[in-house]
Amino acid sequence: MLQSSNSFARLLAELQKLPGVGGKTALRLAFHLLKSPENTAALADSLGDVLARVRFCSVCFGITEEDPCRLCTSDRDDTSLCIVEEPQDLLAVERTRAFRGRYHVLQGALSPLNGVTPNRLRIAELMRRLEGGTVREVVIATNFSVEGEATALYLARQIKPLGIRVTRLAHGIPLGSDLEYVDAATVQRALEGRSEL
Ligand SMILES: [Zn+2]
Repeated sequence: MLQSSNSFARLLAELQKLPGVGGKTALRLAFHLLKSPENTAALADSLGDVLARVRFCSVCFGITEEDPCRLCTSDRDDTSLCIVEEPQDLLAVERTRAFRGRYHVLQGALSPLNGVTPNRLRIAELMRRLEGGTVREVVIATNFSVEGEATALYLARQIKPLGIRVTRLAHGIPLGSDLEYVDAATVQRALEGRSEL
């Protein structure tokens, strides 16, 4: 068996905390990093940079280096707001170039069994934005998973009493799928074919 140093063992342990990385993959990645010290130094540098500079936007909760982010400050349609689960979902919708409004990132989806209740998400901040009165349509683009659907229904119940139109991306996005892995053309079709909730 491999005679691991403490720091190597720690690297393996840290790599295994990443999504989709099991013991074998961690070992393969760790050896790869050891073999290319220059790339590894650049990676470490980039990780430090991200930690130091990248933060969540205080308005939409997407990721940004300047707060508020460019999407919140640039010239966009203030009357429509797209709600997504994670920053990477925002990027998936943005890639379609079919949406010109603003965004709100929930930073998760409701999952009461896993302890994710509404107060664990950025829902209070969302409601404060909507109470401003400028938004006329909310497009709910949570994932098509059980949690994503439950979140969409919960939000619709909260938002409709404000007199705001609530729509959901059209199906055509495979059930159970994460928005970030769906191709831009499909997301665009789903956006154009959105339906009232
Ligand atoms: Zn923002």
